[in-house]
Amino acid sequence: MKPVYTLEDLRDWKNATAGEALPIRLAVFGDPVAHSLSPQMHNAALEACGIPARYCRLHIHPEELPEALSLLPKAGFIGANFTIPHKAAVLGLLDTVDDHARKIGVVNTVVVGEDGRMSGFNTDGPGLLRAVRAEFGVDLRDLRVMVLGAGGGAGRAISAQCAIENCQRLVLVNRTFEKAQQVAAELAPYFKDPRVFGPARRLEAVPWEEKELARQLANTDLVINATSCGMKRTDPSVLPASILQANLLVYDTIYTAQLTPLLADAQSVGARGANGASMLLYQGVGSFELWFEREAPVEVMKAAMEQAKHL
Ligand code: NAP
Repeated sequence: MKPVYTLEDLRDWKNATAGEALPIRLAVFGDPVAHSLSPQMHNAALEACGIPARYCRLHIHPEELPEALSLLPKAGFIGANFTIPHKAAVLGLLDTVDDHARKIGVVNTVVVGEDGRMSGFNTDGPGLLRAVRAEFGVDLRDLRVMVLGAGGGAGRAISAQCAIENCQRLVLVNRTFEKAQQVAAELAPYFKDPRVFGPARRLEAVPWEEKELARQLANTDLVINATSCGMKRTDPSVLPASILQANLLVYDTIYTAQLTPLLADAQSVGARGANGASMLLYQGVGSFELWFEREAPVEVMKAAMEQAKHL
């Protein structure tokens, strides 16, 4: 199997994959996509379950997305995952979109039906929910949560999941403030019931200002970084270490580094932290279960991802 396939390959999928022992019937669409660990995770799951299919990477540029998507049924695909920058664009190209994905405006999983119709879902939010439980042994519903990057694709999915779980408190932060305000307006109906534990409001969008963030952190249990800041080695931490406290839980959705700048700062003040590998795992588990309507082999997927990270 090639490390990355292209639209050119998809146009003539039979020939492009002619030498393969098993048909490639699943893929992750991205631009860039070469770094994705999804093939290792899903191929291990397919093998463990005895499913005669393989999963690959497809490097698809934004302008190629409509054609690439339309080719999936003819190429015999079961489904696909979508990562940066396709998660919002793909939503408008599908036959049906699940209510949750439509509400947040972001699709990360597509199921291709036997009739060729394509349906969209989002497993990022449920993935984060399971990741927080696995990493910290707590549930979102029991936490006061701050989401940094709440206006981005992952941030919207995570914020909506916090709202669905009826978390204690939700603080939405985004570099472009208007996006955080918009998400707050959309999620307001979930926070109507009083569940007051103090003077702080249950749902707030706040501007990205150090003094305001420090004030909000005094009423926060879990900080989630859903921005892309921290992906590059040279990126600064999204929060200054001086405003972090030892009692915080810090989840960074970035999984390309074990210790992101934010997690390094969290560690330096004695706070517990985890990177996005567990969210990646559980969003993948969610996708697998949508494609095959059966339980995913979580431990196999986790081990395959661990092994891939160390190669
Ligand atoms: P996206 O839709 O492009 O959103 C990017 C977000 O990051 C926006 O909120 C943007 O703010 C913010 N941002 C970018 N640079 C920033 C900076 N220098 N300072 C502050 N904010 C900044 O991307 P996405 O798909 O949501 O992905 C975001 C992150 O989530 C990525 O790191 C990705 O790896 C991670 N992720 C992880 C998983 C997982 O399974 N672990 C799944 C999905 C995504 P503006 O709105 O102001 O531009």
